[in-house]
Amino acid sequence: MTELCFAEFAKCLQSGIQPPNDDKDVVGLLLSWITDMPGVADKKGNPVNIAPSLVSDLLKRKVDVPKAIKNACTTKKVVTEAIKHCTANVIPYLNPILSDDMFEAMGKAVEADTIIAIKKKKELTALLKNGKEAEFLGQMLIYIINRENRVSNSSIVSDDIPLLAEADYECPLCHAPLVDYVKNTPVKKYEVIKIYPDDISAVVSEFDPIPKPKKIDAPGNRIVLCRDHAEEYMVEPTAEDYFRLREIKDRLSSTYSLRVDINDATLEDEIQNVLYGLAGITDDTELEELSLDALRLDQKILPENRLLKNDETTRVLRYYNFIDNLFSAMDRDGTGDFDLIASEIEVAYKKLDTGQLSQDEIVEQLAEWIKNKSGVGNRNMRACHIVVAYFIQNCEVFREIPK
Ligand SMILES: [Zn+2]
Repeated sequence: MTELCFAEFAKCLQSGIQPPNDDKDVVGLLLSWITDMPGVADKKGNPVNIAPSLVSDLLKRKVDVPKAIKNACTTKKVVTEAIKHCTANVIPYLNPILSDDMFEAMGKAVEADTIIAIKKKKELTALLKNGKEAEFLGQMLIYIINRENRVSNSSIVSDDIPLLAEADYECPLCHAPLVDYVKNTPVKKYEVIKIYPDDISAVVSEFDPIPKPKKIDAPGNRIVLCRDHAEEYMVEPTAEDYFRLREIKDRLSSTYSLRVDINDATLEDEIQNVLYGLAGITDDTELEELSLDALRLDQKILPENRLLKNDETTRVLRYYNFIDNLFSAMDRDGTGDFDLIASEIEVAYKKLDTGQLSQDEIVEQLAEWIKNKSGVGNRNMRACHIVVAYFIQNCEVFREIPK
């Protein structure tokens, strides 16, 4: 057990309990006594169904424990009920050979957790130490239901970038940003969902008149949503939501044509040529100081330049690490000097930033400048644009928009 979350707790319990102990058995054992309580209902007033898709999504940490269950787990009374439940339905069925390992793993997870309150940590540790196993499990269960189950920060998968760009990097339902930056590293705040869902066993009748797409995995059936909206749809898809998402998707894909080349293998070679070309810079100009807190793209490009922002974001997400690694390699083997190149680009930018040119025009001019400096031909213009995007993200190109 590596983390205090529902999925890890369920899997740990699974390792110490007698069969039947499949995923659905264990999740059912932990949650169905709550879903059976009167008043625990989803947003339509129906009982919460622990469907196979929910079991699988919970254990994969794709979704959080359903809100209806969380809401039922906020009182002292429910803790007492949980202890009773564990006394009657969990403790008698533990595997006596493996249950000590299981409890030890749970205790270590509590010990290692950095979020849990010290008081709670002490309380749980004491229960375990004093052999109060049912109380420990009951307390843990309610605590863990209240914690976030979804995997928090994770990095962006490059396959998702076209879908992100299509949605303009915001949730089409609530406009929440889908990419966040932690110390300048892009972090995933979205899920890709299938518009026609994989598993419609719980809602077959609602989806009855809707034809299933031929390729359910194709990009045409996928859309990016913020975590909350994605989860809502994954757990409880309705025909109404389906039509809404379908309409949004059709609108997004018709307005967004993939202007940016993001899956082009030759581009990496071209970028490399551009950088090696730039490495030849030998101007004796004074080095410009680089700003320590580099600003990010979204702080620098004016909101009215939406398309430019979208294109540059897409390029940065796709090629940022590639360019970063190339620069590191060049610095290491002495073939190029990042600081010198960055400083030159800043000088070039300052010459262009006289208030006469739009941001679009500055980007064009800088790409042109990079092309000339690196001695590559017009064929490498896209690569030059990507290098500009990298410097927008990383360095001095464009000042922060005045607030
Ligand atoms: Zn949303």
